[in-house]
Amino acid sequence: SAPPYLGTSRVSVDLDAIRDNVVELDRRAGQAGVMAVVKADAYGHGIVPSARAALAGGARYLAVAQLAEALGLRRAGVDAPLLTWLFAPGDDLTDAVRLGITLSAGSPWALEAIAGAARETGLPARTHLKVDTGLGRGGSWGDDLEHVLRRAAELAAEQVVEVEGIWSHFAWADAPEHPTVRAQQEVFETTCARAERLGLRIPLRHLANSAATLTNPSAAFDLVRPGLAVYGLSPVPDLGSPEDFGLREAMRLTARLVSVKDAPAGQGVSYGHEYTTSQATRLGLVPLGYSDGIPRHAGNAGPIQVGGDRLRIAGRVCMDQVVVDLGPGSDAQPGDEVVLLGRGVDGEPTAQDWAEAAGTINYEVVTRIGARVPRVYL
Ligand code: PLP
Repeated sequence: SAPPYLGTSRVSVDLDAIRDNVVELDRRAGQAGVMAVVKADAYGHGIVPSARAALAGGARYLAVAQLAEALGLRRAGVDAPLLTWLFAPGDDLTDAVRLGITLSAGSPWALEAIAGAARETGLPARTHLKVDTGLGRGGSWGDDLEHVLRRAAELAAEQVVEVEGIWSHFAWADAPEHPTVRAQQEVFETTCARAERLGLRIPLRHLANSAATLTNPSAAFDLVRPGLAVYGLSPVPDLGSPEDFGLREAMRLTARLVSVKDAPAGQGVSYGHEYTTSQATRLGLVPLGYSDGIPRHAGNAGPIQVGGDRLRIAGRVCMDQVVVDLGPGSDAQPGDEVVLLGRGVDGEPTAQDWAEAAGTINYEVVTRIGARVPRVYL
């Protein structure tokens, strides 16, 4: 059971679930290893403990988007192989090279910046070449890609950079039958072959995010690169629940009611009175709001479990709080724990329930839980 509350709400993170999810993803990946994506504070779960749990589950590599996230992991003592891909011209990459952080070369300038940092430090810089196989986001394509491959081959021959990886990202991994999935995979394979013809021996090819890891074993290559599934959420809720994929949700968001009061029938509730009580009832105040990541679009919809009952937010989501209509006979008391996010067992709401209530995706629900909500680790 979780330690006492440090405040009025908390995120409890089940690190064993993260570890076990990585074991399961590793099993599904066959010969490939797992590169666990721990960007965005490990999708809201807390980057350092989550990274360590993923490594305990056998992750061979970690990945974060921002360079600052990678440096933070190293400063926290996480020394596993670690890829980062978001930095801008002029950023100092020398610390990353010294700390053995793998830098993605997603465009010609990035490859030159990585080579520059290698020369400045006198150390070889490890890089993964990012190919845009059709997502239309990061990575090189066309003439830029040909340039990057040729230049990478030169820099590798000069031992300025170590070209350890080549990678790309799907546009439609959550629709495994979509024709772009096969097409992107073919472009990826052609690009790997081209790199080889240029003399690059690249041991780590990676393409599959969570959805591809779970639905498309042919995309596993040398590493799979899941994020969402590491935390036990399904990237393809229409195709399967976490349980169907052998995964367990790691995050639980709970709060304590800070007030309970009687309200008459016909009472407007919260800003703009977008909810009106239909009968004399009791209203509970939940100390979480949009600044804590509760989606404002979940007004009158977001699910909250109180006692055994599955209730909904009454009225608008405010900055720090929401109201829940407890019903006339409710014996809920101030201090009672309510569940906003759980595993779905016994009627607990899930991240997917919240996504549907707010018209978003489960990714956004968990990554937006604010820094103000204390994380406790189980
Ligand atoms: N790779 C890249 C480049 C990403 O941007 C992301 C996340 O958005 C992932 C992998 C992990 O994706 P998912 O959380 O769908 O597994």
